[in-house]
Amino acid sequence: MTDTTTAPAADLAAPDLAALEAELRELLGDRGVSVELAARERASLDGSRLSPVISEQLPLGLADLVAYPADAEQVAVVVAAAVRHGVPVTPRGKGTGNYGQAIPMQGGLVLDLTRARAVVEVGDGWLTAEAGATMVALEQAATKAGQQILMYPSTAQSTIGGFLAGGSGGTGSIKHGSNSMGFVKALDVVHATPDAGLVHVEGDDAQPYVHNYGTAGVIARATVALEPLQDWRGFFASFDTFEQALSLIRPFADLEPTPRLVSADLPTLADALPDDPGIPAGRVSLRGILDAATVDVATRMVEEAGGRVEDVREGAQTSMKISMMSYNHPIEWLQKAYPDTYFHVEVSGDALVDRIDEVHAVYPGGMLHVESQHGRPIGMLAGVYTSAADVWAGFAKLRALGVGYHNPHQWFVDYEPDRTRELAATTDPRGLLNPGKLVDPASVTAPTGVKGGHAAPGATGIDTGAKVS
Ligand SMILES: Cc1cc2nc3c(=O)[nH]c(=O)nc-3n(C[C@H](O)[C@H](O)[C@H](O)COP(=O)(O)OP(=O)(O)OC[C@H]3O[C@@H](n4cnc5c(N)ncnc54)[C@H](O)[C@@H]3O)c2cc1C
Repeated sequence: MTDTTTAPAADLAAPDLAALEAELRELLGDRGVSVELAARERASLDGSRLSPVISEQLPLGLADLVAYPADAEQVAVVVAAAVRHGVPVTPRGKGTGNYGQAIPMQGGLVLDLTRARAVVEVGDGWLTAEAGATMVALEQAATKAGQQILMYPSTAQSTIGGFLAGGSGGTGSIKHGSNSMGFVKALDVVHATPDAGLVHVEGDDAQPYVHNYGTAGVIARATVALEPLQDWRGFFASFDTFEQALSLIRPFADLEPTPRLVSADLPTLADALPDDPGIPAGRVSLRGILDAATVDVATRMVEEAGGRVEDVREGAQTSMKISMMSYNHPIEWLQKAYPDTYFHVEVSGDALVDRIDEVHAVYPGGMLHVESQHGRPIGMLAGVYTSAADVWAGFAKLRALGVGYHNPHQWFVDYEPDRTRELAATTDPRGLLNPGKLVDPASVTAPTGVKGGHAAPGATGIDTGAKVS
């Protein structure tokens, strides 16, 4: 077990699981609660298999019971019951978070929110949905009203609650940045206090609940920003060299109207993506979701850079497909093609374009999946996995190159942790919400007890500026 699992002092004395189970069966009926081992195991894993470092440490926790509230009001009732019985609560959407954020490290109750999934209302410039609504459902509801959501992750089937609490950005972030940058207009949250109910927070008061893994409150309903629907095209280009594609990452971000996504991969990464005539084997691939008005100028830019446009397609399905080849997804495809071979680090900054050979040289087999987010190149730097120590050793090299990085092989809250701790002192005084995730990052050293042992004291690998998933 690593130092990172150490929870802050929390009063978890005498949780009464049997009493909680009985109360939940009364409240939700037998279909609303499970103590079956298979259900508990399913609820205790997330997308952290993407990290060989975390995978080596699994299982990291097992739920004692799982509850499935059907709406936001039931979410509040379930949390209140768990608090009264002193049982830890780990909220969960679709379990795609890739840092181990959704693993119930101290057991207790996993609050599966996927049945609380109503899209409540769509207004002009906003949409309100329950936490378990999928990002795809939000986009479909917005589209029907002639609008689009500002952003969604490549895991488009993940939930809005999970994306806000565990994710960072995705398709749309090239223009709008991360989900902590004005995407959230209001939340109904549930605190871990005995009188827990739905608490409505708006604007600045809602932001401290974003990206801290539910440690300061459970999101039951969210109101997020919409913008007018645009006429998008799926744009597929290919190049002989990565440098040619890289030369367009910044200029494409400057197209007007701004694309919804631009991402590029080396042939090895591109070959691991799903078969598509727009991504020819052995070629560097650049894909974009471009406003129809910019396709001609983008085509000229590709040709001037020495590439060729393979295809331009219409339709929401194409956009969704291109999204699912962005952010962490190329790493997942790579791992499917070459099992047990690759890890990745989230990276950002101009050095990704300007010093690509040195960036690739940081790790053996280094390969960058590159995108653009809010005026800066970002990406996932893949490398051949040898040991956690070698992963950590690369951080100093990235820093020396001026590359921002975030370490996706740890599960503690590293985005605004002080702000979260201050809030949680009031909203979760007993440390019952997702315990094990809210620690002082300054107190965290590199893991020393993982299999394949290593030590890199002080190298926490935090540079939240690069946090991209
Ligand atoms: C292949 C792959 C690709 C990915 N691509 C992206 C990407 O493009 N962009 C991105 O940002 N992320 C990405 N991720 C990470 C992950 O998909 C996002 O974090 C995702 O949106 C989480 O949604 P979820 O419903 O699966 O949440 P879960 O994984 O179930 O939960 C995520 C975290 O939020 C907490 N949580 C869940 N619901 C609530 C709630 N209602 N209230 C409070 N806390 C809650 C959980 O406890 C956990 O800590 C990717 C992961 C993988 C494996």
